Amino acid sequence: MLIPKSHPRAASLHIREKLVSGYKSGLLVEEGLLAHGRGETFDYLIGEKTSKYALRAIKAASVALILAKAPVISVNGNFAALCPKEIVQLAKIVNAKIEVNLFYTNEKRKRNIAKTLKKNGAKEILGLESKYYKTIPKLDSARRVADKRGIFSADVVLVPLEDGDRTIALKKFGKKVITFDLNPLSRTAQTADITIVDNVIRGMKILVDISKKFAKKKNLSKIKFDNKKNLAHSINLVKKNLRRMAHV
Ligand code: ATP
Repeated sequence: MLIPKSHPRAASLHIREKLVSGYKSGLLVEEGLLAHGRGETFDYLIGEKTSKYALRAIKAASVALILAKAPVISVNGNFAALCPKEIVQLAKIVNAKIEVNLFYTNEKRKRNIAKTLKKNGAKEILGLESKYYKTIPKLDSARRVADKRGIFSADVVLVPLEDGDRTIALKKFGKKVITFDLNPLSRTAQTADITIVDNVIRGMKILVDISKKFAKKKNLSKIKFDNKKNLAHSINLVKKNLRRMAHV
């Protein structure tokens, strides 16, 4: 279906189409579509645009990725369907590895995701060869597998649209966790070191652009960033929009 750009929900309908097409080409599963529904609700509540708080988190994330020793971008089906080009661009700019890591793990789907990323210019994709598999402690069997050259040995991991158990396990395992999560109340949002409360499709473009600029700087230093405080601002933004929408 062709959606006119003037449609008030054109952007969110376009995102839905991307996900449905990703589903049809074997990148994501039904549960991924449902997870998107949760995200879409919160996108509506934050006003479907990148807030100044999200921008603050994006800047902190960019610096953390550039200064990391071994940064890794963890890719699931939704992320691959929504921004394959930006994943590859960001990996190149911040010198990060890309690892496919799925909640509902499936070797064929992993290969489909890797193919999409390669079509977008990725050279190496981790998480596909069992000889490199290691297990993250304190996590149930399906999700604890990580590539020993990637997430397992990373210091900073970008894990967008992640579930809380895995985020908590990654944190306990000593990783600095950066996430995109439209729901500022989710366990992932609350547990991560840097939570970007924005739609990954908007936020990744900004993260790429900012990282391009930051990567050129000679004396890039860490940005002071308080995730809890920043999340509280995003929660207040949701409250404010709710009151405005409900005229109360
Ligand atoms: P948690 O276990 O962290 O509490 P959850 O169980 O609510 O999370 P999951 O289904 O595990 O949610 O993960 C999906 C998360 O990704 C949700 O919090 C949802 O808001 C978010 N999300 C979905 N689509 C997007 C998107 N396009 N951009 C950013 N976040 C998204």
